[in-house]
Amino acid sequence: MEHPSKQVSRRDFLKAAGGFTLGTSLALGTDLTRVVARTKTLKIAGATEVPSVCPYCAVGCGTMISVKDGKVINIEGNPDSPISKGTLCPKGSASFQLTVNPLRMTKVKYRAPGASDWEDKPLDWAMERIAQLVKKTRDENFNETFKTKDKDGKDVDKKVNNTLAIASLGGATMDNEWNYIHLKLMRALGVVFLENQARI
Ligand code: SF4
Repeated sequence: MEHPSKQVSRRDFLKAAGGFTLGTSLALGTDLTRVVARTKTLKIAGATEVPSVCPYCAVGCGTMISVKDGKVINIEGNPDSPISKGTLCPKGSASFQLTVNPLRMTKVKYRAPGASDWEDKPLDWAMERIAQLVKKTRDENFNETFKTKDKDGKDVDKKVNNTLAIASLGGATMDNEWNYIHLKLMRALGVVFLENQARI
């Protein structure tokens, strides 16, 4: 890999490209008025660029978030990122929608046991219910020991401190830090069935 000091940064490139364009246009007599006018109409014109990291998976691709009037108006790949060099996968490319999509679900659909209709419930209600059910299930199904045999074939109670009644299935929206703390929580509860959809 080329030494970093020899690599051209995005800003260097844009500066050089701008200089080249200006120099060429002066030399060739090109009228830049239309280009400048078009630049002013770009949706990110006048926005502040904030470098960030895609929240979706542990690859950690770099994003550039454009913020204007306190609102996120665009997200795209950050060419300065040594991880992704300006690229994003389809999911990362759609991360703008994560922030602004008016169709994003903000309530939970709940169907009570035995009921046929779905009800809308607030997120806080769902979080509380999940926490209560996890605690109840874990307390009712916690195994301090497991009956097995030792090497001489004698019955023994082996300490396990687990529950086989709960499983955890993670998704690709869980980043490194979330996965780390989630694993700690599950292990503390005694959950042993741990799986994650993202295997990057
Ligand atoms: S979801 Fe895609 S864009 Fe986001 S960090 Fe993972 S690979 Fe990169």
